Parts: sequence; structure tokens; C-alpha cells
Amino acid sequence: MIGGGRIPRPGEISLAHFGILFLDELPEFKKSTLEVLRGPLEDRKVTISRVNSTITYPSNFMLIASMNPCPCGYYGCDNHRCKCSEQAILKYMGQISRTTFRSN
Ligand SMILES: [Zn+2]
Repeated sequence: MIGGGRIPRPGEISLAHFGILFLDELPEFKKSTLEVLRGPLEDRKVTISRVNSTITYPSNFMLIASMNPCPCGYYGCDNHRCKCSEQAILKYMGQISRTTFRSN
């Protein structure tokens, strides 16, 4: 997502420069993947270092994400009954760190 490769190439966050990066089903992303977005979100650039080169790409993007309220998607719905256990819902919600995308 941030870019990479032997010769560092821009990732989605740089391809979204001056645009929107939309992450659907946010909890499905690895926590480590989401954590690496913190720096570029604050700095509006990303630096990718490899053995032979270091490249800085711009990454001034707006992050928009979506997620369901629970794994089945029906928690809080009037027309369908959520079949998720409380533990499953907490685990699902726990995928998103409360501090990961804290605004300053
Ligand atoms: Zn559910």
C-alpha cells in the first residue's frame, strides 16, 4: 500500500496523491498495514528505503474507510437479526485501533 519493490515504486497512497484512498471493509486489513498509514497521513509523504536506494513519494490523500457494525453486518439492523456473538463483535471492532487514525 505504501509502495516498495527492489526499486521502490509508488504504492496506492502515492497513486491517491491529491485524491481519495478508499478502504472498504477496514477491519479486513492487517493492523500492521493500517499502522503504516499513520506517518504518511501526518507527513503527506512516504519514504521507502531499500538497500540501494531511498525514494520519497508524495502521499497527500484523504482516507475514507468503511466497515460493517459486526462480521455479519446486521448488528443494530431492524430488519435482520445479528447472529454474531458479543466476543465476535468485540474482536471485529478491535481490529481498528482507537489511536490508529486519531486526528490532531
Ligand atoms: Zn452480526
